[in-house]
Amino acid sequence: MGKQLIYLDYAATTPMYDKAVEAMLPYFSEQFGNPSGQYTLAGKAKRALEDSRKQIAATIGARPEEIYFTGSGTEADNWAVKTALQCCRGKGKHIITSKIEHHAVLHACEAMEAAGARVTYLTPDEDGVISVETLQRAIRPDTVLVSIMAANNEIGTIEPVAELAAAAHKRGILFHTDAVQGYGKLPLSVEDGTIAMLSASAHKIGGPKGVGFLYVRRDVRLPSFIHGGAQEKRRRAGTENVPGIVGFAKAAELTFARREETEKREKKLRDYFIGRVLSEIPYVRLTGSAQDRLPGHASFCFQFIEGETVLIMLDTDGICASSGSACTTGQTEPSHVLTAIGLPEDVAHGAVRFTMGRGTTKEQLDFTVERMKEIIGRVRAMSPYYAGFAAKENSRTDGGNR
Ligand code: PLP
Repeated sequence: MGKQLIYLDYAATTPMYDKAVEAMLPYFSEQFGNPSGQYTLAGKAKRALEDSRKQIAATIGARPEEIYFTGSGTEADNWAVKTALQCCRGKGKHIITSKIEHHAVLHACEAMEAAGARVTYLTPDEDGVISVETLQRAIRPDTVLVSIMAANNEIGTIEPVAELAAAAHKRGILFHTDAVQGYGKLPLSVEDGTIAMLSASAHKIGGPKGVGFLYVRRDVRLPSFIHGGAQEKRRRAGTENVPGIVGFAKAAELTFARREETEKREKKLRDYFIGRVLSEIPYVRLTGSAQDRLPGHASFCFQFIEGETVLIMLDTDGICASSGSACTTGQTEPSHVLTAIGLPEDVAHGAVRFTMGRGTTKEQLDFTVERMKEIIGRVRAMSPYYAGFAAKENSRTDGGNR
C-alpha cells in the first residue's frame, strides 16, 4: 500500500468537489453547444451559462450582469489593473496598490508603469495589514485606481477591504480587490457599492482550474481586455468555457452552503496546528496576523533552515506544503511579501506555509507536527549557522548558571 497523501496546500489549489465534476460532464459531451449559437442545443449551453452567472452573482450580492467570466483569477486581475485608467480618461494615471499583492496584480502594475502610469506600492504593517490611514495618505488628485487584495496568499492576513473600499469610493476612486484567496472563505459583499471590481478563481474553492470571474460594478465602463467576438456583453471575447463555468457555479453553491461551518472547523484546526508548532518547535515565528487570518492558513518562518529543504523532506513523507519563496532561474529569492512585512532575508528563507481544507484532519496535522520536529532538528544539525548560534546560546546559559 502506498503512503497516505497529506495535502496541506489548499491555498495553491483544491481538489474538485465530486458534484462539481458531475455537473460539468454533460457540457463536454451531449450538451456541447456553443452558447452563441441559434439552435436548441446552443440554447441549453446558454441557459447553463446564465444560471451559473446568477448563482455566482448571488454569492457576493451582485447582479448577474455584473459578473464576467474569465480564464483565471490572473486574467481578472490583469483586466482590472490594465484597463481601469482608460475608463477615467483625463482624471490621471495614478494607481495605488500594496507591496504584498499577488504577482498577477504586481506585475500588471509594473506593466502599467512601463506604459506611463504612476504606481504607489503601500507598505503593510508587520502583520501584513494595509491600514485605511496608509491608503488615505497615498491618495492624490490624479489617483484613479486602488487595488488591494482581500486576503494574502502567503501569510493569510485578511485586509480591511470594506473600510479601504469605502475610503477610496468616498474620494471618487475605483477600488479593485483581488479576492482569489478570500472568495468562499470570507463574507465578501459588493452590496454597498463601494467595491468597483472584484476578482475570484474557481480552483481555490473546489472548482476547476482555468476559470475565474471579474465583478464589474454596473456603472463602471471598463473597456475590453480580450478582443474578438461579442461574448460576455462584448467585454470579454472568446467562446465561454461552459463546463468550467458550470463547475465553478456548483463549487460556489457547495462552498457557500457551508461557509460558516467550514470557517469554524478550519479555524479550529488552524489554531490547534499553530499552537503545537509554536510551542513544540524552537526558533519559529508565525507570519501574518494571528487574529485576522484566513481560516485554515498557517504560515511560519523557521530560523536556520531553508524552507525549500523542509518541503522536499516533507514530500518524502507524503506531505504537500509550500514555501513563501519564488524560485526563479535556479536562484531562490526571498518572498516579496515577507520582505515587505519587514522580515530579514535570512529569516524569510525559512518560510513554510500549510493551508488546510475539506480533507484535512487533526490526525494529519499531528503527524505533520511530528515530522516537522524531526526534519527541522535534522536540518538544523547540519547548519553551520545553527551550530554557531547554539554554541553562543550554551555559553550564555552556562555563564548565567555560574
Ligand atoms: N491572486 C491571488 C491572491 C492568488 O493566490 C492567486 C493564485 O494563487 C491568483 C491571484 C491567481 O489566480 P489563478 O490561479 O486563477 O490565475
